[in-house]
Amino acid sequence: MADSFYIPESVNELLDLLLELKKEHLYILSGGSNLLINDQKRYAHIIYMKSVDCSFENYGNGLFYIGASVRIQKVIKEVNEAGFGGFEELIGLPALFGGVVYMNAGIGGKEHPKFNISDFVLRVKVIDKSDWKIKWIDRADCDFDYRKSVFQLDGFIILGAEVQLDEQMPEISKEIIRKRQAVIKDSQEFLKGTFGSIFAESNRNVRNLVALTHKKKGGVSFGTKNTNWFLNDGNASFEDAIYLIHKCESMHKLFRQPISREVIVWE
Ligand SMILES: Cc1cc2nc3c(=O)[nH]c(=O)nc-3n(C[C@H](O)[C@H](O)[C@H](O)COP(=O)(O)OP(=O)(O)OC[C@H]3O[C@@H](n4cnc5c(N)ncnc54)[C@H](O)[C@@H]3O)c2cc1C
Repeated sequence: MADSFYIPESVNELLDLLLELKKEHLYILSGGSNLLINDQKRYAHIIYMKSVDCSFENYGNGLFYIGASVRIQKVIKEVNEAGFGGFEELIGLPALFGGVVYMNAGIGGKEHPKFNISDFVLRVKVIDKSDWKIKWIDRADCDFDYRKSVFQLDGFIILGAEVQLDEQMPEISKEIIRKRQAVIKDSQEFLKGTFGSIFAESNRNVRNLVALTHKKKGGVSFGTKNTNWFLNDGNASFEDAIYLIHKCESMHKLFRQPISREVIVWE
């Protein structure tokens, strides 16, 4: 699937690699939890961000620097242990921090978001693909919106971000996590192969209608608890998943309902 799969172990290694590949089209892989990858296609260069920047700095008074390669569960644990918090409910995301910032991940729907990671981000450290220099982008220039950010325009590679958090007693953080895990257990088919929400914006009734008429395609079916999730019975292909995504999109068009993707598709 990938002709070359790179796992840079530092920012300098990543920079050297980028300078070497410069004009090539690059695919950036983080936790992979919001990606639908075409299994029929060959990708020339995939860069896995797992080990690029694993740093976690506590500057005091709730100010932290978090590297793009840190798993979100570790981030939550570290800030909670330091007596701060705010985004514990992201505990169930199989994601790295860079992917969380890129997607502006959060909890709640578009109309009533509970929080997005952008609520906490002060500035983001990136490599600018126009000149391959390391820069900081202030929150105001990140164009954060619901599951959207300037980073989705493909001009930057995220190295990490500074966040400002409120004080929070560790017992309170533990309780938030306990409650979130109960919600996940109750409302998500989390033990089956799945990725999170397919659409950032869609109409539940239209989705349910598609789910009724197209229960399953190959190895992919709609979630039984939430039709904005797809389940993989172990034999799913890219073709199956994109077929159902297109079905939902065309049905929304027919009923003149807005729809936009949350999942990032590597066509
Ligand atoms: C079980 C489950 C539950 C989920 N629950 C939620 C939820 O409650 N809320 C929510 O918002 N999302 C949820 N998601 C979706 C997903 O976890 C988030 O979108 C997450 O932010 C993706 O992070 P990742 O590290 O997996 O990124 P990936 O999926 O690897 O990448 C996503 C995109 O970001 C780009 N990217 C990633 N890192 C970088 C970087 N450092 N620099 C440049 N580009 C980069 C990739 O190229 C890709 O285009 C869930 C997913 C699953 C599977």
